[in-house]
Amino acid sequence: MTDHTTTDTLRTPIVAVLGHVDHGKTSLLDKIRGSAVSEGEAGAITQHIGATDIPLDTISGMAGELIDPTDFDLPGLLFIDTPGHHSFSTLRARGGALADIAVLVVDVNDGFQPQTEEAIDILRRTGTPFVVAANKVDTTPGWNSQDGQPIQRSLEAQSERAESRLNENLYEIIGQLSDAGFSADLYWRVQDFQKNIGVVPLSAVTGEGVPDLLTVLMGLSQRFMKEEMAIDVFGAGEGTVLEVKDERGFGATIDTVVYDGVVHNGDQIVVGGQEEPIVTEIRALLQPRPLEEIRTEKKFEKVGEVGAAAGVKIAAPDLDRAMAGAPVRVVRDRPVEDVIEEVKAELAEIEVDTAED
Ligand code: GDP
Repeated sequence: MTDHTTTDTLRTPIVAVLGHVDHGKTSLLDKIRGSAVSEGEAGAITQHIGATDIPLDTISGMAGELIDPTDFDLPGLLFIDTPGHHSFSTLRARGGALADIAVLVVDVNDGFQPQTEEAIDILRRTGTPFVVAANKVDTTPGWNSQDGQPIQRSLEAQSERAESRLNENLYEIIGQLSDAGFSADLYWRVQDFQKNIGVVPLSAVTGEGVPDLLTVLMGLSQRFMKEEMAIDVFGAGEGTVLEVKDERGFGATIDTVVYDGVVHNGDQIVVGGQEEPIVTEIRALLQPRPLEEIRTEKKFEKVGEVGAAAGVKIAAPDLDRAMAGAPVRVVRDRPVEDVIEEVKAELAEIEVDTAED
């Protein structure tokens, strides 16, 4: 038997990307993944079910001069792949938001739009720390793109005219944040990220400013979330259902983000269901196959265990009535009735909250 002494370790912060439609959420996630892969190191990213894990070394490689990796002991960042505040607002963890930190994408030309306001409301309500990605700086008239560069490098290459056009737009957004009740500034002017929201000008297409965004996300997590990131690596796993999906050969499965502890194949789990909690036993833990093996018939690879933070597909009997947004709990050494009560209590909280929307 494993010795279950408590061993605290720091887990990866979970990052969500929100914003108005067409403001560039998907492009930003694609750019971050793509640039990470072109960093060229083995293990530059790990594609999980529903999420992408970018280790500190890769982030540090992408951020170049902006990051000194020895300043950090958090292992990296886990980006939830499905952007948008609809999923964000249903994804809870113990009553709070599943994401530890968020990126609010705002088109620098368009400024705040209805879904930006909605996203801000949700971030405020859940108390989620966030940064603003002022996206599409490359569409500023007269812009001279500096692909993949830190934003200061890029600004140095701009005409005065282009820079002042951009500044006008940026200050418009800073004003809109202020109207929404958030004191904000360009991120390099922010002294205290707990009081002020940092605005990062960037382009999801050219990648300029993306190094800055990653640096700010790492810095914020390291400084303000380190305590919350300390988890017992042997603890009973806890997670949230992203999606319920039928998979050939497995039946109904749940794509899950594990945010605490560890989940083993064969574990008994309790999952929030449409009528009542589902008690079942894990038949398989599945991850996407690495890209180079994608030609094989099977989409997934079975793994023995998954530790937080991670995305994983769980196959188990009776999951067809499971619910997106619902809690998943490993039972382990506790009476199953206690875990069922926990799951019920959490579901009740989620329902009250959605009723308020
Ligand atoms: P989403 O709806 O927020 O996920 O937005 P998308 O990522 O789908 O982007 C909407 C459109 O804006 C697409 O045509 C993108 O190519 C374009 N786009 C996104 N980011 C940028 C950017 O930084 N610069 C430019 N020029 N176009 C962008």
